[in-house]
Amino acid sequence: MKKVRKPASKTDQKMMRKKDETIVFFRGIGSAMTLAAAAEKQGRRIEMTDLSPIENAAMIVKDGRIIACGPEKELAKKKALLKKAREVDLKGRTILPAFSECHTHLIFAGNRAGEFERRNQGESYQSIARSGGGILATVEPTRATKEKDLAKVGQRRADRFLRQGVTTIEAKSGYGLDVETEFKMLKAAGTVRGPRIVRTFLGAHAIPKDFASAEAYINHLIAEALPRLKGEGHACRVDIFVEDGYFNSAVSKKYLQAAKEMGFDLVVHADQLTRSGGAALAVELGARSADHLIQVNDHDVKALAKSDVTCVLLPSSDLYMNCAYPPARKMIEAGARVALATDFNPGSCPSQDLALVGVLARIQMKMSLAQVISAYTVGAAYALGFGRELGALTEGRKADFSVLDGDHQELFLEIGRMPISEVYREGERLV
Ligand SMILES: [Zn+2]
Repeated sequence: MKKVRKPASKTDQKMMRKKDETIVFFRGIGSAMTLAAAAEKQGRRIEMTDLSPIENAAMIVKDGRIIACGPEKELAKKKALLKKAREVDLKGRTILPAFSECHTHLIFAGNRAGEFERRNQGESYQSIARSGGGILATVEPTRATKEKDLAKVGQRRADRFLRQGVTTIEAKSGYGLDVETEFKMLKAAGTVRGPRIVRTFLGAHAIPKDFASAEAYINHLIAEALPRLKGEGHACRVDIFVEDGYFNSAVSKKYLQAAKEMGFDLVVHADQLTRSGGAALAVELGARSADHLIQVNDHDVKALAKSDVTCVLLPSSDLYMNCAYPPARKMIEAGARVALATDFNPGSCPSQDLALVGVLARIQMKMSLAQVISAYTVGAAYALGFGRELGALTEGRKADFSVLDGDHQELFLEIGRMPISEVYREGERLV
């Protein structure tokens, strides 16, 4: 297995700076898939040429940011700058921007293997939920697990993503459904080292048993949880499961509006099992992303395309749920920005495999390879609010990239394997 390296500590970083090693010259790059054009188009209407490859390339990184990426011959002329640089020879290999995983339920305890069997034997997700299964079945073990033990499993899962070329991971709460456990999950996520973690408060994931209605629980979240969340700073994003039997559109709107007024970024679990109005809400309130989007109609697609909301598609979850896939081609053709993610969670997607996501996107949703690569880099970066910081190898962006073991056409091809041999975050090697 690929080894995950310990990121440099703060003291090490200072030492490196003293030795004038903050400038790194990555040379000998056979091909740099920069995604410059995809980033220029903000991840919309992606074509093969938007991968913007540069052959015989090099990249200069200063203090973790790209200051130049271009043909090695040209960059080698910057003699004054390169005099102070540390050199890394990538020996003719291909590089591409690191991936972002923009929808995960990274922190939880226990598993729901039994439910998987029940679903396959014909029971519906909703019927399992009614008998105490589903999201609520993960709440109990998560409440009973200490923060440091949740942190340990979170780290293990984050490392598994990192080895696949992921340097930014979203981590949602949502299996506590009481303020203390929700915050415990977010704090556990905050201790994860290596990839950067973007934390999202998903207290509105399901209605806990001790509340009479969705509205009563939402009122409690608005009055108690959000102000504390703001004050304690465990997350700057708020998500909700807009779905019949969970939170309907009207209740969700009230909640999202309150969160927006408090300055949180918004994310929506939208139109997954039924067309319950999540996409429309995301557009109306200017959410970062609307996620799932299986049940959307042409009207919704048009509205999403016109908006700045990123459409986050989660085909592995659709496979596990044995349901339809979202109309990705329609979204792309209409001009919507699409991102892909695993939706890693104990119930509807216990898989962390990025290759599986990409293969399903290609086979089931007919996305082209370039569209899949852009969705996992530029698109996912936008979904996390890093549209101008990550996702492409262009001047000014963070130097998060992977070195491929082979050429880019081998990406999202073989389920269970990502052809990636090295992973860098802000110029520092992590794998
Ligand atoms: Zn989810």
